[in-house]
Amino acid sequence: MKVLANDGIANSGKEALEKAGFEVITEKVEQADLIEAINENGYEVLLVRSATKVREDIIDACPSLKMIGRGGVGMDNIDVDYARSKGINVFNTPASSSQSVAELVMAHLFGAVRFLHQANREMPIKGTSDFKVLKKNYAKGIELRGKTLGIYGFGRIGQALAQYALGCGMKVLVYDRNEGPFDITLSIADQNLTVTLERSELEEVLTQSDFLSLHVPATDGALIGEAEIAKMKDGAIILNAARGGVVDEMALLTALNEGKIAHAALDVFENEPTPSAEILAHEKISLSPHIGAATLEAQDRIGTELADNIIAHYQKQEA
Ligand code: NAD
Repeated sequence: MKVLANDGIANSGKEALEKAGFEVITEKVEQADLIEAINENGYEVLLVRSATKVREDIIDACPSLKMIGRGGVGMDNIDVDYARSKGINVFNTPASSSQSVAELVMAHLFGAVRFLHQANREMPIKGTSDFKVLKKNYAKGIELRGKTLGIYGFGRIGQALAQYALGCGMKVLVYDRNEGPFDITLSIADQNLTVTLERSELEEVLTQSDFLSLHVPATDGALIGEAEIAKMKDGAIILNAARGGVVDEMALLTALNEGKIAHAALDVFENEPTPSAEILAHEKISLSPHIGAATLEAQDRIGTELADNIIAHYQKQEA
């Protein structure tokens, strides 16, 4: 049985599949050549991350496909309902990357409040000639302890982020479609401490947060646009590691330029993989290239979970 892992798969998953008798192909097939490659090789399982798109055309043209696996959470690059309506087993690995995304958001947050992104850009150029000037420019950082983090979308990643934020002594306000309350357990030195967080009104999260982090799935329109930004505290920070477009980039740029928003941290972009040049060059934005789930640990967990799903599916069919 052949598995095409078109956006790659961690060794943990490849080895588990090979041990179970599957052949795993990891050479990338370009989007335009995908139908031909699947049909020529009779691939039954197609594994993707976010790069490869699996739309209706591929599903219609490739009758051999039995499973489509998404290594990661968001399945917006797959026509999930359509594939399922054709009897294809579509699955993802929802829990594997929550810790990694949460840690990346904390990294952006720690960096943002001390201007690390800007200092890192300027030190190689002016670090010798203007050391004292740079020191003065960046001597206005703040601490995270005691500040309020608003979390918009309080599922797996939002809750993992809350653990870190609470551990740092931050106040956490949450908004989700689900009503809550939400029990967040912090494990510190083999001891567990459970903190219960009530859901706040969205208005309260917007108006009271020093930092606002988005953790909802892809949306049709922006959840944070001009109107929501207007309600936020002056000098607040916005972090988006959810999906490009959840925060309206034009509204964000305006708010940064006007000083309403002090800083933004973006791991995801409206126009991936070619984000707006203005976003990339903006001095008040810290950037990462959609690497929320890209840790060795998360990729290992994702690989294992993909393999387990495939093996279980075929074992069930044989039984
Ligand atoms: P999840 O399903 O566990 O949580 C999402 C939460 O958002 C749910 O609790 C849901 O009720 C809530 N929600 C959905 N729409 C909402 C709305 N309009 N208003 C309020 N709440 C809403 O998903 P998760 O594992 O926490 O992941 C969240 C998203 O993060 C994913 O869908 C994906 O887009 C993104 N993600 C990004 C990366 C990255 O590399 N940056 C990695 C993994 C996931």
